[in-house]
Amino acid sequence: MIQLYIPLNFLGVVYREIKQSLTDMERLFSLLDQHREIADSPDAKPLQTSGAEVRFAHVNFSYEPKRQILFDVDFTIPAGTTTAVVGHSGSGKSTLSRLLYRFYEVDAGSITIDGQDVRDVTQDSLRHAIGIVPQDTVLFNDTIEYNIAYGKPGAGKEEVVAAAKAAYIHDFIESLPDGYATMVGERGLKLSGGEKQRVAIARTILKNPALLIFDEATSALDSRAEQAIQAQLKEIAQNRSTLVIAHRLSTIADAAQILVLDHGRIIERGTHAQLLALDGAYAQMWARQQARQDTGGSPAAEDGLD
Ligand code: ATP
Repeated sequence: MIQLYIPLNFLGVVYREIKQSLTDMERLFSLLDQHREIADSPDAKPLQTSGAEVRFAHVNFSYEPKRQILFDVDFTIPAGTTTAVVGHSGSGKSTLSRLLYRFYEVDAGSITIDGQDVRDVTQDSLRHAIGIVPQDTVLFNDTIEYNIAYGKPGAGKEEVVAAAKAAYIHDFIESLPDGYATMVGERGLKLSGGEKQRVAIARTILKNPALLIFDEATSALDSRAEQAIQAQLKEIAQNRSTLVIAHRLSTIADAAQILVLDHGRIIERGTHAQLLALDGAYAQMWARQQARQDTGGSPAAEDGLD
C-alpha cells in the first residue's frame, strides 16, 4: 500500500507541474495572440518618410474596456523638431510612444507619419523608421559589440566603433580586458544605468532612424552623467522628429513644443517660455522642481502635477 502511495503522490506532483506548465503556455499563447491581433493590413505598404512629421489626430485609447487612458489627444510634431511630453506618473506619457510604435491600436482618431496612417504601413518599415532610447535598456546576454550592432543588422565592426565613439562609450569599452568582445547582460558584465543608456544611444546612432523616441529615465543618473547624455541626445535629435517623455523639466526647456498631459488630456501646450508666462500647471511644476533643486533634493518630477 505504501509502495503504491508514494508513486501516486509523486504523480500528483508531476501532474501539478504539468498543469502549471500548461497554464504558463496558455498565458504565453494568449500573449502571442494579443500581438497577432496587430497584424499588417492586407494592402500594407512600406512607410515612406520625408522629414517624418508626426500627427496624433483626436486620439482616444484604453488598454481595458472600462478605463480610458487618452482623451482626444491632438498634436503635431513638425518635421525635424522636438516635442516633449510632461505630466504626473500614470498620465499616459509612455502610452503615446507605445501607440506611435503601434504596440496597440487607437480606439478613435488616427496617428500618421508624413500623412501615412500607422495602420496602413508594414510594421517592419514602421519600426525601422523609429529609434527608441528607453528608460531601461535591456541588454542581450552577448558581447557589447553584438548589443550595439543590434541597431543595424549586418553592421560591420567599424560602424559599431564609430557609433560607440559618437555615444562616448568607446573609451570605456576599450578599457575592458575583452574590449568589444566583453559579455554583458544578466550573465555578463553588469553595466550602470548611464552605460546602458549609452549602449542604447549607440544602437540608435547606428540605426539612424527618421524618428526618435526618448523615454527619459525616472531614476536620475548622477547629474554629470545625465548632462553628458542629454548633450548627446540633443546631437542625435538635431533635425530629426523627436518625442521626449520627460521627467525632469530642465532637460526639455529648449524643446520646440511642450505638451502637459493630465489624466490623459493635453491641458497646456507651448514653449517653455510660453508655458511659464501662462502661469498654470507647467509653471507650478517648474517652480516645484526648482525649489527641490535649490534644497538639494532630486529634481525628478515623478509627482509632476499631483
Ligand atoms: P510614468 O511617468 O510613471 O512612466 P506615464 O505617464 O508614462 O507614467 P503610462 O505608462 O502611459 O503613464 O500609463 C498610463 C496609464 O495606463 C496608467 O494608469 C497605467 O496604469 C495604465 N497602463 C499602462 N500600461 C498598461 C497595460 N499594459 N494594461 C493596462 N493598463 C496599463
